Amino acid sequence: MEQKVQNTIESLKRNNIAARYFDSSKEAVEVLLKEINADKVIGIGGSMTIKTLELDKLFVENGNEVCFHWLEQTPEKMEAARRKAAVADIYFSSANAITEKGQLVNTDGVGNRVAAMIYGPAKVIIIIGINKITSNLDTALERIKNNAYKNARRLKLNTPCSINEKCSSCNSPQRMCNVTTIIDKKPSRTEMEVIIIGEELGF
Ligand code: SF4
Repeated sequence: MEQKVQNTIESLKRNNIAARYFDSSKEAVEVLLKEINADKVIGIGGSMTIKTLELDKLFVENGNEVCFHWLEQTPEKMEAARRKAAVADIYFSSANAITEKGQLVNTDGVGNRVAAMIYGPAKVIIIIGINKITSNLDTALERIKNNAYKNARRLKLNTPCSINEKCSSCNSPQRMCNVTTIIDKKPSRTEMEVIIIGEELGF
């Protein structure tokens, strides 16, 4: 295990957040599917990492009720899925960055993902690739700004970063960066676990 992963796991545990490491996403997915019963309602926040691991599809196949707005076709159904996910038994998401001090750093446009990470679901599981580990908060925020254009392009947003590949602190109506949160320690009423995977995942 790389030193930065070890530092992050030790810091998370000091911050009262459970933490595990898997070399591969395949291994992590196998363990999660064994551990989570089919009667649990699964909420999912917008995440390329979760989508890459196909957890949405696998939990549906497992018989779980899955609340994930990316699976819905209309704005009304997407909104209903966001709201239901916010009170799920288990909420899955990634984070935009994690520091070696064990801080989870996220920037959202809507805010449903960051809100659900803090309060609402009984348990939150954050899955994160090693590419998102940064040494400190400054580099975490820098990482988020430097990678935001990838999400803007994925979502086909009309923002300056989508064209220039860099942030200009825009006032675009489609701006994605409206809420930034830092989880320093486990939110007191939410069970929380971070799973670090030894692969590059998400943006
Ligand atoms: S503030 Fe605007 S330009 Fe900067 S990353 Fe966010 S959406 Fe892109």
